[in-house]
Amino acid sequence: MNDKFDVIVIGAGNAGLISALELVKSGKKVLILEKENVPGGFATSFIRGRFEFESSLNTLCEYGSKESPGEIYKLFEKLDLLDKLDFTTITDAFHVYSIDENVNYKMPFGILEFMEKMEEYVPESRNAMKKFFVLAEEAKEALTYLASQKTNVDADYLKRNFPDFLKVSTHTVDKVLDALKMPKRAQEILTTYWIYFGSPTSKLSFVHFATMMFSYITKGIQIPYKKSTEISFLLANEIEKNGGKIKYLSPVKEILFKDKKIAGVMLVDGRIFESSHIIANLSPTFVYGKMIPNFLVPKNALKLTNSRILGARGFAIYLGLNQSVEDLGLYEYSYFIHENLNSNKEYQNRSTLKNCSSVVYVNNNAIPSCSPKGTTVVTFFSLFMGDVFSKNVTEKNYFDMKSKIATRMIEAFERTTGIVITPYIEEIEIATPITFARYGGHPDGVIYGYKATGMDNLIPRLLSLEEENYIPNLRFCGGFDALLSGYSSAYLSGEMVAKLTLKDEEGEE
Ligand SMILES: Cc1cc2nc3c(=O)[nH]c(=O)nc-3n(C[C@H](O)[C@H](O)[C@H](O)COP(=O)(O)OP(=O)(O)OC[C@H]3O[C@@H](n4cnc5c(N)ncnc54)[C@H](O)[C@@H]3O)c2cc1C
Repeated sequence: MNDKFDVIVIGAGNAGLISALELVKSGKKVLILEKENVPGGFATSFIRGRFEFESSLNTLCEYGSKESPGEIYKLFEKLDLLDKLDFTTITDAFHVYSIDENVNYKMPFGILEFMEKMEEYVPESRNAMKKFFVLAEEAKEALTYLASQKTNVDADYLKRNFPDFLKVSTHTVDKVLDALKMPKRAQEILTTYWIYFGSPTSKLSFVHFATMMFSYITKGIQIPYKKSTEISFLLANEIEKNGGKIKYLSPVKEILFKDKKIAGVMLVDGRIFESSHIIANLSPTFVYGKMIPNFLVPKNALKLTNSRILGARGFAIYLGLNQSVEDLGLYEYSYFIHENLNSNKEYQNRSTLKNCSSVVYVNNNAIPSCSPKGTTVVTFFSLFMGDVFSKNVTEKNYFDMKSKIATRMIEAFERTTGIVITPYIEEIEIATPITFARYGGHPDGVIYGYKATGMDNLIPRLLSLEEENYIPNLRFCGGFDALLSGYSSAYLSGEMVAKLTLKDEEGEE
């Protein structure tokens, strides 16, 4: 052993960085070990030709504004980051298209505006929509209470303050929206965002969906002017400024134990760092499967991890176009191109390689200066459900397959919106589940953690946080943790896990 730390964080993704920053600010000696040469994990950017592409951040939820701060605004304020970052706000919630039906719906932010627009599209939906937002707000408050209490939940307090939340807490989105008598078309428009949870609305937890949707519609979405890289580097700088250490190009190979207790880590190159507390910004699938000797992994940990289903796999097309948004007629920030608005049918579409659905983000409509004058950056973002990609793609057919899928998605966008972009492509990069598996270190190219489905969703995961802490002093943060995936969840997971680690430490004193 050659160097000793209070806590070692494996991985400098969003959650790992926030965990480390919380811990150094509490006076802990912290080391982050990151396999890549930059911080951020998926929160990064890359350059092709004269374009710099944002890798992942198209929607930052839960940020809000000074007047209406979301959880991320409050977290960044606490960490003294606000005046070091610059955000722009997106004006419309989403514009969703159905390829099968040739219809489209453009929805605004703000509860009243959203309900008003919905009533225009789907007459007599207002009453049910109103009930939805009231219920969603109660669910959000209840979840905030649960997250703050973790293992000390007062059942009477819950019953007294959140009675409707308790009634719906075990039900799916479809069940609750049907019970609210929401017209089907209004349900389909409202649940446009189901794809990010990796489960169709017949299986998705109502509370999970409703709380996210409530934040989304009330707080809107923000994008940092200088891309997610700006946040990642700021977090890394703040960690180092506060005495933390970050070692890049330092992939961890193994977690070390002494007398069956956490003792440190060994890197692929053989270097060893000592600590009795580890936070892994990785999946339990990878950590239990590859980083810890089999006989040291508790049976229950393996059983639970193996019972979880991997979530959605990522697919992205990054385009640099040699025309301006005005020349191209690209006036929206986001175009949700769904084959079908019914999430169950759409889930089936996305479980095959024929999937041509995607969300198309026009980055210049958020940040006009994000590419050289007279050009446009467009990102196609899609999700494949299940292991269809890794099952069918081989080393031999990989390049052919990925360009066929990308071509199909671009053509579907052009056909559906009538906007032509293909002749103007100057740069193209296609990232597949294989790319994301290699870059993030996550199984099968999953970018949204384990699937939140049936009884394995946000609430039970939050309530069983301590039960799932199978190896003392080894904690998990990030997309595979209880708060599930996405930027805001990862940041909040980093904060929560840092606090739990501080508690673990106190318990030892
Ligand atoms: C194309 C794309 C678009 C997305 N769009 C959005 C969006 O618009 N909004 C949103 O909220 N979310 C979006 N997401 C999801 C979001 O990026 C993730 O949920 C979030 O970044 C996950 O953060 P994380 O902390 O779990 O870490 P990750 O980003 O998964 O980072 C894990 C880190 O661990 C490192 N690592 C892995 N193995 C090792 C090892 N052995 N040793 C050392 N280090 C290791 C990796 O290099 C990486 O830095 C998108 C994701 C993708 C891929």
